[in-house]
Amino acid sequence: MAALRPPRLDAAADEMARTAAAAPDWATLAATARSCVACPELAAARQHVVVGDAPPSGRPLVAFVGEAPGATEDETGRPFVGRSGALLDQLLAEAGLAREECAVLNVVKCRPPGNRTPKAVEVARCSGWLHRQIELLDPAAIVALGLSAAKWFLGPTTVLARAREHGVHLWNGRALHVTYHPSAAIRFGPNGAPRAALAADLRQVASLVGRRP
Ligand code: URA
Repeated sequence: MAALRPPRLDAAADEMARTAAAAPDWATLAATARSCVACPELAAARQHVVVGDAPPSGRPLVAFVGEAPGATEDETGRPFVGRSGALLDQLLAEAGLAREECAVLNVVKCRPPGNRTPKAVEVARCSGWLHRQIELLDPAAIVALGLSAAKWFLGPTTVLARAREHGVHLWNGRALHVTYHPSAAIRFGPNGAPRAALAADLRQVASLVGRRP
């Protein structure tokens, strides 16, 4: 019988998790994350660490979590401000949710070159920030946008359509919803199924947190 191997640990991921967990507040976390060099390839290529948006005061109604910044986000330092962000803003407004009362975050805070999918080791090294952000923000609900975010919450074998159809998940005691990434809605067009599903999911989340169009 093959000997059981201990799980592979990444020392840098552990170190980042400890650093992030020690951040006492959002401002300290943001300042510390901005100087992160745990992923040398991402740190060398980035213009900004895209820490995320949080409401200026108070608890977000919903925390939206995407995959990683794209080119516009890397240029500006803000999450979801490119084409995907424009669609997200439009669908949020149609659902009756103001972006300003929500948090907008990503699994990975630096743009992967060429917008490639983040590598597992990059996700691991960045995970501490998102964990601590969720703890600090204490959102009433979380929405995972797309497969990378869904896998971060639910595990590597997650199938997006199945996780979405499941309805509300419980993650660390919080309500977690899984839906399509706005980029999928853009890719399949205005009459495609992902856009209709994303819009319907955002309406449902809005109504669960007490907002109406
Ligand atoms: N896509 C993401 O997943 N996040 C962003 O911030 C922008 C595009």
